[in-house]
Amino acid sequence: MKMFTTSRSQLIKNIINFSENELSNYSKKRNFDFGPPHKNVSKLSPYLRTRFISEEEVLKIAVSKNNIKNIEKFIEEIFWRTYWRGWLESHPWIYHEYLDTSKHQLLPKKTGIKCFDKWKEELIDTGYLHNHSRMWFASIWIFTLGYSWQSGAEFFKRNLLDFCPASNTLGWRWVAGLQTINKPYLALSDNINHFTNGRFNPIGQLNEKVKLNYIEQNSSHVLTFIKPEKIEFKNFDNIGIILNRNDLSLNHIFKNKEITYECCVYSNEHENKLINEFNKNIIQDIIENNKNFEITENHNQIFNWLANKKIKNLILPYETVGNKIFNIEKFKNKLKQLNIQYNFFLRDWDRNAFPYATKGFFKFKKNIPNLINLAKI
Ligand SMILES: Cc1cc2nc3c(=O)[nH]c(=O)nc-3n(C[C@H](O)[C@H](O)[C@H](O)COP(=O)(O)OP(=O)(O)OC[C@H]3O[C@@H](n4cnc5c(N)ncnc54)[C@H](O)[C@@H]3O)c2cc1C
Repeated sequence: MKMFTTSRSQLIKNIINFSENELSNYSKKRNFDFGPPHKNVSKLSPYLRTRFISEEEVLKIAVSKNNIKNIEKFIEEIFWRTYWRGWLESHPWIYHEYLDTSKHQLLPKKTGIKCFDKWKEELIDTGYLHNHSRMWFASIWIFTLGYSWQSGAEFFKRNLLDFCPASNTLGWRWVAGLQTINKPYLALSDNINHFTNGRFNPIGQLNEKVKLNYIEQNSSHVLTFIKPEKIEFKNFDNIGIILNRNDLSLNHIFKNKEITYECCVYSNEHENKLINEFNKNIIQDIIENNKNFEITENHNQIFNWLANKKIKNLILPYETVGNKIFNIEKFKNKLKQLNIQYNFFLRDWDRNAFPYATKGFFKFKKNIPNLINLAKI
């Protein structure tokens, strides 16, 4: 059976199953990488990243099957991605600096470090790696093999089904000792042996002692996150929504408010075959379940769709740092020429959380109970 379904109804069944059978043990077992099919973790990241399903929907199911007190760790993990995305909004230059560095790195077929070689294979074959293995892998990449963290982040970017500019860049920086300054994450053979349940024991193969001397930069210029204006769309006519990999369920918000809209799904090519197929298949599932939705593959098709549907008010998912698709001058100018109003819609989930994500996660997480209340979970 494939590890990642591309059907939303099957995904919901999987979440119910995970919530009923695995979630109560999640906090105890989540750090173990027992190997595929990774039943002890949710494997929800490719869906949450694209919001094929939203954080609220997942947590509503989880909470309906468990006492909320017993799943605090899972809720906290869900908020990690929100936190990283929010943090990058207030430190965008960190991403731009990453983009500006050279990232090419030729990888040897085999390094001789069995766990590392296996994780590399697993990532390429499945598009997924367990969180702990991502940490070990990144640490070995940087401190044992001596490659740059940027080239490692690029390797993940090219292969992860769930690639998220914020979680990936900041995850790599965290391992490298740049997020929590000079506190790198060191992969230790004992720890790998224990948390892989004895599958791997790279004793004597890893660089387990590192001393860093970076100078703190992160806190020097923090931008205040400026929330886009909140608009009530109740009285707007001819609304069109473009779903894309930044949010594939944004239309649900409008459906729940009984606002009428037309919808198209923007589907672009990915050079990685596995990721391309996954993306296309989840979009196909949306189209099959919404007969009046259309697929668009380029700007021309979008402008034709806008004209055919006589759209006057266009809604697009908000584009956080690293996720630009349509928030570009050429596209926006064309909309203006066509007299189409546009709005990059920020979900309340992000609107409420991002202002708290300027410092460390420890500080951010104190707001989680309030954020959960605001989301009515
Ligand atoms: C170097 C490195 C790179 C990473 N790159 C990405 C990335 O590109 N995209 C991505 O979504 N995650 C990334 N992560 C975070 C994390 O590894 C994955 O989100 C997680 O492994 C996904 O598996 P899961 O859904 O089974 O997680 P679960 O343990 O079931 O967690 C549930 C959800 O919580 C969120 N989550 C959990 N841990 C983290 C975390 N540390 N950071 C952010 N969100 C988290 C995810 O949305 C996940 O689906 C990275 C971590 C590291 C160390």
